[in-house]
Amino acid sequence: MARIELENITKKYKETVAIDHLSLDIKDNEFFVLFGPAGAGKTTTLKTIAGIEFPQAGLVKIGGEIVNLIEPMHRNVSMVFENYALYPHLSVYDNIAFPMRSKLHRKDEQYIQEAVERVVKMMKIDGLYDRKPSQLSNGQRQRVAIGRCLVREPAVFLMDEPLAHLDAKLRHFMRGELKEMQSAFNTTTIYVTHDFMEAMSLADRIAVMNKGTIEQLGTALQMYYTPINELVARLFGEPEINLFPAELFLDDGTVKLHALGQRIPLVPEADAAQVLKKQHGNELDLGIRGIDIAFSLTPQDEAWIKGTVFAFEPIGNKVIMTVLINGTQIRIAAVNNTKADLDQRVYLKFNMKQVLYFNRTTQGFITRSDMKKYT
Ligand code: ADP
Ligand code: MG
Repeated sequence: MARIELENITKKYKETVAIDHLSLDIKDNEFFVLFGPAGAGKTTTLKTIAGIEFPQAGLVKIGGEIVNLIEPMHRNVSMVFENYALYPHLSVYDNIAFPMRSKLHRKDEQYIQEAVERVVKMMKIDGLYDRKPSQLSNGQRQRVAIGRCLVREPAVFLMDEPLAHLDAKLRHFMRGELKEMQSAFNTTTIYVTHDFMEAMSLADRIAVMNKGTIEQLGTALQMYYTPINELVARLFGEPEINLFPAELFLDDGTVKLHALGQRIPLVPEADAAQVLKKQHGNELDLGIRGIDIAFSLTPQDEAWIKGTVFAFEPIGNKVIMTVLINGTQIRIAAVNNTKADLDQRVYLKFNMKQVLYFNRTTQGFITRSDMKKYT
């Protein structure tokens, strides 16, 4: 159990700045997710905590103690790598037991047996004790690798995209399993992923990383409902959030928005309109997720915006429909049995309660309706 602090860490590889003045304070026992695109610096951050990489500047603290000069094996962290490697000549049992037989962390065989049994039960791989890695499926191998990480009782678990190489179905299943195990961990965990669903479902808190720095730090719901900028908004949600320019104007003191070449103005919810009034003259971007857009074949009132069907993709439990409105593609998530033909005329209605307003120049978040509910 340990709190982890990073203070102003910079790590460069020659000219590449992998981590750029990064600070983080991870609570004891927290399940903390580092989330972001490839190259963001996530793996480097984990390696810096593990002690496999050394930053040029900044402090790494584990349990309040500065560990910059402490060797990895003395830091009491356990790490699962993205490209985990099991020892091919060792059985499942011996692979998992391995860390407890190292010189430094050696335990007696009675202790090892109990620990291995606890972990294989947790990972649901009991019954495979004697198999070699080559006799296991991908999913089973991954479980053994995670098991090997969990078998020690370190101060910190570091997991680098442990599910990334599994197929979608297994990944989904394992996510559920990890979620279930989480409460049993009782150990500070830093979990790296570039899958937003994994991030949202597992995390106590998420740090969105990009280009070696943190874009936003908060809960899954804060990321989703109040993303700090357009980049973060894009990273959360499937299909990706719709973002398009809008002009803001005052009509008799009421804030209205022109967007998508429509003559019909969009009217923000009252509290959002209050904030937007001060932005008068600024150009905005509107963000709205596909699930917050209603669809109809007939306009039901003047709030419905006319478009044509551009693409239609059934994806299991829903249909992703791309609708062209004056040259802008808007993606909506419709219910499964929705039927529409290409080029067919359709009407969309935005749920203005869920619209996110961004500054078009800085791409920074301005407001949304019901801000209080989400902060
Ligand atoms: P992520 O895990 O978020 O994909 P990384 O931490 O692996 O990102 O990499 C961050 C940046 O540092 C990238 O630009 C990557 O190319 C670079 N980098 C990482 N490791 C090395 C290395 N050993 N040598 C040189 N550049 C590296
Ligand atoms: Mg990585």
